[in-house]
Amino acid sequence: MKLIFILLLPVFIFSFGTKAQTIINRDSIIEKMVNQISSERIEQDVRKLVSFHTRHNLSEQNNPEKGIGAAWNWLKAEMEKSIPESNGRLSVEFEKYKVGGEGQRIENEIELRNVVATLKGIDSIDDRIFLISAHFDSRVEENEDSTSFAPGANDDASGVAAILEMIRIMSKQEFSGTIIFMAVSGEEHGLYGATHMAEKAEKENWNIVGMLNNDMIGNSSSSGTLLNDNMKVRVFSEGVPAFETEQMARNRAYTSGENDGKARQLARYVKEVGERYVDQLTVTLIYRNDRFGRGGDHTPFCKKGFTAVRITEFNENYNRTHKTPGIENGIQLGDLPEYVDYEYVRKNTGVNLATLANLASAPYEPKNVGISVQGLSNSSTLSWEEPEKGEKPKGYYVLMRETYQPVWERKIFVSETEITLPYSKDNYFFAVQSVDENGHESLPVFPGRARRR
Ligand SMILES: [Zn+2]
Repeated sequence: MKLIFILLLPVFIFSFGTKAQTIINRDSIIEKMVNQISSERIEQDVRKLVSFHTRHNLSEQNNPEKGIGAAWNWLKAEMEKSIPESNGRLSVEFEKYKVGGEGQRIENEIELRNVVATLKGIDSIDDRIFLISAHFDSRVEENEDSTSFAPGANDDASGVAAILEMIRIMSKQEFSGTIIFMAVSGEEHGLYGATHMAEKAEKENWNIVGMLNNDMIGNSSSSGTLLNDNMKVRVFSEGVPAFETEQMARNRAYTSGENDGKARQLARYVKEVGERYVDQLTVTLIYRNDRFGRGGDHTPFCKKGFTAVRITEFNENYNRTHKTPGIENGIQLGDLPEYVDYEYVRKNTGVNLATLANLASAPYEPKNVGISVQGLSNSSTLSWEEPEKGEKPKGYYVLMRETYQPVWERKIFVSETEITLPYSKDNYFFAVQSVDENGHESLPVFPGRARRR
C-alpha cells in the first residue's frame, strides 16, 4: 500500500511544536477562476441593487426602477447574460412562491420570487447538486416599513454580488455535478424564500452535497469595539444536527461524532479549500449554527437534513445592519454601499468559488466508510467502498486528527479501500474522502462501525 503523508494545516505545527512546510497544490483552472473575480464588478452590482431604493418584501413589484420587483427582474437579466458562454448549460428561472396570511408576519398573502440559475453538470449520470445562496431582500429598522430607503448594501447585496460574479466566471467552465446559484427573497420576514427552496429540494429529492449560505460578507469594521480586519471570515456550522433520526443519534453517541456531522465536515472543507486558493484570508470555523438571536437561509436546509453552512464577515457593524439611513449623534447610520469593503467581498467570493469548483469536480464520496471496533488493539483499521457512481477515484485521503482538535491534521493518500494505521482508534478521529487525478477531494465521510467481514 502506497502512503504519502502530507502535513496540512498550521494547527499541526503549533500542536506538535515542529517546523513544517505547508504544501499548497492548486488546480490551475480553479486558480485562474479565483483570479478573475473582480472587486470592481462586485461594487457595480452592489450599487445597482442599492439603486432600487428598497428591496423590502412588501415593496412595489411593478415599478421598473424601484422596489423588489425591479430587483428580481434585473437579477434574472444579469444572470441570463452568461447563458451564451455556457453552451446552453446555464438556465435561469424565477421560482415563485406565496407567503403570508392570517397570524403570520406578513398579514396578507402575497407572491414573491427567488431567482435561480442552474449550471448543469457535464456528466449526465452525476445527480449531485451543489448549492449557493444569498438573499436580495432588504429592510430598515422598522421591519414593516416598505417604502423608506433600505440600501442593504452589505445585507445582503454583498452575498448576491458574489453569486453574480461566480455565475459569470463559472458558467464558462465545465463541472461534473450541477451547481445551483440562488438569489432568494423573503429572508428578512422569516427565511421564506430559502424555506420554499428547501421544500422544493425535499419534494424533488435533490441530491444536495452541500449548501453555502452567504449573508453579509462585506463589512470589515466592527461597531463598538472598532476592530478593522478583512483577513478573517466566519463559517457557521451546526454540531448536533437539527435533523436527526434515532438511528443517527445512536451512531453519533457511539462514535463520539458530535463534532463530525456533515455540516462540520463541509465547514472544514470550506476552510481547507478556501485557504488553499485565497491569499491573505483565514477561514474561522464557528462551532454553532448561527449567531445569537438571528437566523439565516441555511437553517431551513439543515432542518430538512441537508448539509448547509453560513458564511459571514468576522466583524459586524450594528450602526449599519438594518438601520434606517440618517445621522444620529454624529454617526452615519445605514447599510450604505460606501461602507462595503469590496476587496474583502472579492476574497470571500474566492472562498466560495474554490469550494464549489473543487467539490463539483471531485468524485462521489466513498461508500460504507467504517472503522473496525472488533477486539482490542493499538491500531486503527478503516475500510470503505468505491463510490457507486461517477468517475473512479484515483484514490482516497484518510484524514486524521486528535480528538480535541478542530481541524484535520494529517492527510494520507491511499490507493486501496482499506488501511491499518498504527494509531489507536480511541485516541484519534478519522474520515475518508475520494480524490481524483487533479487533487479534487469529495467531502470527508466520518466512519461508522465497520461491518464484520
Ligand atoms: Zn441578511
